[in-house]
Amino acid sequence: MVPEIRHARRIRLCGAISTPAISGSTPGALVIVAVVTDTPTTGGPGLPQERRLVTAIPGPRSQEKLERRQRLVAKGVGTTLPVFIEAAGGGVLVDVDGNSLIDLASGIAVTSVGNSAPAVVERVLEQTKAFTHTCFMVTPYDGYVDVCEHLAELTPGDHEKKSALLNSGAEAVENAVKIARVHTGRDAVAVVDHAYHGRTNLTMAMTAKNMPYKQGFGPFAGEIYRAPMSYPFREPVEISGEQAAERAIDLLEKQVGAANLSCLVIEPILGEGGFVVPAEGFLPRLKEWTEQNGIVFVADEIQTGFCRTGDWFACDHEGVVPDLVTTAKGIAGGFPLAAVTGRADIMDAVHVGGLGGTYGGNPVACAAALGAIETMREQDLPARAREIGVLVGERLTAIADKHACVGDVRGRGAMMAVEVVGADGRTPDPARAGAVSAQCHEQGVVTLTCGTFGNVLRFLPPLATTDALLTEGFDVVSAAFDATA
Ligand code: PMP
Repeated sequence: MVPEIRHARRIRLCGAISTPAISGSTPGALVIVAVVTDTPTTGGPGLPQERRLVTAIPGPRSQEKLERRQRLVAKGVGTTLPVFIEAAGGGVLVDVDGNSLIDLASGIAVTSVGNSAPAVVERVLEQTKAFTHTCFMVTPYDGYVDVCEHLAELTPGDHEKKSALLNSGAEAVENAVKIARVHTGRDAVAVVDHAYHGRTNLTMAMTAKNMPYKQGFGPFAGEIYRAPMSYPFREPVEISGEQAAERAIDLLEKQVGAANLSCLVIEPILGEGGFVVPAEGFLPRLKEWTEQNGIVFVADEIQTGFCRTGDWFACDHEGVVPDLVTTAKGIAGGFPLAAVTGRADIMDAVHVGGLGGTYGGNPVACAAALGAIETMREQDLPARAREIGVLVGERLTAIADKHACVGDVRGRGAMMAVEVVGADGRTPDPARAGAVSAQCHEQGVVTLTCGTFGNVLRFLPPLATTDALLTEGFDVVSAAFDATA
């Protein structure tokens, strides 16, 4: 006899009885009795938007699962906060022990519309029932083209644009380089100090930080050249954005030669490298120089894009119009999708069959993106990111006023950070940044660190979060600075 399970929600099996104890079941049938726990398995914005700690972090169930994870998952795949998640939505993550954590990370800038956002879920379910895969290169479908249409409309500039869809950010960056190389007939690629572009072989070469991203994984792809970034907090002498751009241009002209460069790939605000906001004028001057020299300007908006910084794209802030834009993360509400979007003539330089991949632009991922983009438009999420930026900026400034170890408060919109330093106001203090972050985790707030020196605490809340959660979350961050003083 097939046991009958009576509850659809999260259940713990606790025994079997013979009916008719449960009405409606076949008399005499074996019914598994299940206890519905108070921990919901359905996520989305309906989840109670609260911080609730019912066990230590990690709790006993998470610890049990961690032991299994340790045994079965490769050690190289790290974990920032070792709790297993069972449901998430709005601005919270709920773990298997029933703890509700305030999310200040969005799964690294992905769930901007919130976890299991209704429009994403609806479209994904509908698409999943219709078909799950054909491979766009074999037989096309509308969802892919619809996403490309939105990308053409939303990315900076009103020129004619085309897109290619991929699976991950790194893949998008690789494809942008491939396209730029074919278009220009040149090999060299320029990137900047502290850049992060991914973990594949080419993007590892483009990424600056060795540990943990590159250590032992070489040899790396050649023809990658690194120029100095504008990093206002760490300039030995204050310089303008234009001067910082001239410094980078001078180095590239002398050491590589502008005529050998296919593209300059740059994050408009550095992500993993430390949420570094270049001085105003830096990006426009670099863009102008690339135009003068036939170099493709590629904005890597994988972390900054899709409303995160208070504009649809971070390049919008200074009116910079890139030739190519790479996107991923926030584009699809948590589904794996990435894109290269750009000038139609550049995108079309590549021969038929030169771009693509089995899953690139998978129909379910495209449906998720359409749901996410619809949510961003309807809820005006760029405006919400700006509001979040004001609230978080005020809280971080207050922490900096109290704690000299906060050397810099920076960021834009819902992409904010503090750089933690020693008594001299400059020396990076990754231990303190780590201690503050660990303290936040213990108190049920999900925070991340980043930066070449590992001393930057970064905050990437879902744009679907509430002011109340943010206020409570930053009370915890503030208390963590007090506790680690
Ligand atoms: N570029 C930037 C700016 C990123 O932030 C990331 C991811 N952190 C990547 C590229 C790589 O994206 P993925 O992890 O999806 O390959």
